[in-house]
Amino acid sequence: MRATTTATGKSGTSPTTAQQLRQLERKLRAERDALLSAARRELVRGEEQQFASIAGEVPDVGDQATAAALTDFDNEIARRHDVAIRDIDEALVRLRAGAFGSCPDCGGDIGFERLMAFPTATRCVKCQGLHERTYASLATPTM
Ligand SMILES: [Zn+2]
Repeated sequence: MRATTTATGKSGTSPTTAQQLRQLERKLRAERDALLSAARRELVRGEEQQFASIAGEVPDVGDQATAAALTDFDNEIARRHDVAIRDIDEALVRLRAGAFGSCPDCGGDIGFERLMAFPTATRCVKCQGLHERTYASLATPTM
């Protein structure tokens, strides 16, 4: 019986090349720009919709409550986009530092295809799965 050779490094996932890194950087920048303009658009549209529905459904609601609801809505949108943009910024920093594309947990390659699908991925599929299971069991209260 012969052991299958998977640890030689030549086969399987190859390290992300400089050209692929440039491609990923362009993708990250494009997504960042899209997020920023989407955040602005959503904020404007969201305010209009929220205001219309609040005014229509609850005509006697106080100004304070309306303002509070709008602020919550703004904060939620801003928070969601902030997190996404911060992830992209961190990915760009890793890219600059030459630390992009390798998994910090196992030292393996994250893989170009995975990075094109999830440019902000910090771990390989295997380690991300482990991380999410660990994180979920610690942080998510089961109802
Ligand atoms: Zn890994």
